[in-house]
Amino acid sequence: PETIVVSELANRMAERAADVIKSLMKMGMMVTANQTIDADTAELVIEEFGHRAVRVSDADVEQVIQTVEDKAEDLQARPPIVTIMGHVDHGKTSLLDLIRQANVVAGEAGGITQHIGAYQVTTESGALLSFLDTPGHAAFTSMRARGANVTDIVVLVVAADDAVMPQTVEAINHAKAAGVPMIVAINKIDKPTANPQKVRTDLLQHEVVVEAMSGDVQDVEVSAHTGQGIDQLLEAIALQAEILELRANPNRAALGAVIEAKLDVGRGPVATVLVQNGTLKQGDIFVVGEQWGKVRALINDKGERVTEAGPSVPVEVLGINGTPEAGDVLNVVETEAQAREIADYRIQAAKDKRAAAGAATTLQELMAKA
Ligand code: GDP
Ligand code: MG
Repeated sequence: PETIVVSELANRMAERAADVIKSLMKMGMMVTANQTIDADTAELVIEEFGHRAVRVSDADVEQVIQTVEDKAEDLQARPPIVTIMGHVDHGKTSLLDLIRQANVVAGEAGGITQHIGAYQVTTESGALLSFLDTPGHAAFTSMRARGANVTDIVVLVVAADDAVMPQTVEAINHAKAAGVPMIVAINKIDKPTANPQKVRTDLLQHEVVVEAMSGDVQDVEVSAHTGQGIDQLLEAIALQAEILELRANPNRAALGAVIEAKLDVGRGPVATVLVQNGTLKQGDIFVVGEQWGKVRALINDKGERVTEAGPSVPVEVLGINGTPEAGDVLNVVETEAQAREIADYRIQAAKDKRAAAGAATTLQELMAKA
């Protein structure tokens, strides 16, 4: 049920809370400034004060941000979004760094990579892949908990000199729960103590049957130190992406997920957004979580200014009125009024939720004391 706190209602009308309470009293309602009233009553009060009520509901928000399905003929292939997971010290960061560096052509103008939370690489066969720069399970699960599914493929890194460990099992469970296919990268194959076969048999116990064991999970032996197997790993990812037939509609209002955000001293709030559908363009008006804005500039993973970013492309977005949170969804809308209204609505909804949670705790505390 839609409700509003009396003081908040007064605030929004720029009226005194005492006057609103008086008006409610005339209607036969005895309330304090901190109590909530239902939307119908609020609407009567608003009219009483000569204002016009505009109700925003979840349904309105959904309508504004175009949750419409794309037509099949509008869909085009998009790059996969890849997350690297695995046990600590098995080589996730080393692999991510190696893959990124291998793609920077020495001496190339603008070839200096920027850490913006994600980057894109091109495989030898010409496939484009997007990598999330934050290995680790916390990011994966917290994003998913916030409703942002930003991973198409998980690369499970297992050190050949160590085999399956607790966080390896955790990663397997995350990938399975998310319904995301895995590719196993058996790393540190350069080490004299490497035993890739042990990794494969260990994985069997967790119902991960790799191709070398006649299963359907691709496995590739790699070394983040020598670079061995990296090209094969990238091609394995490209192949998996083809099987998944990932599609998006580049010709619609953009929808994306924030993968990291910060308040930059010089540039203001900056968010790295992974575009999931549509194309994000300079000048677009958007709402992102409880914030909104107008795209002032877009900067790609090479630190270059770009005018637009299509599906699966990570970009830094400038022009946000506040700092959003990782996992927040960005939606391009038509007008600033819509963007502001949705952001306001979300702020209020979050406040109400906290207030309700607070009230529940107080009640529990009271009952515990009794
Ligand atoms: P993470 O915790 O999974 O991110 O692992 P790191 O990338 O930080 O690697 C942990 C340690 O293993 C570091 O000392 C790396 O230099 C080393 N390492 C990573 N990959 C390899 C590899 O392929 N071969 C060898 N010999 N060492 C590696
Ligand atoms: Mg690391």
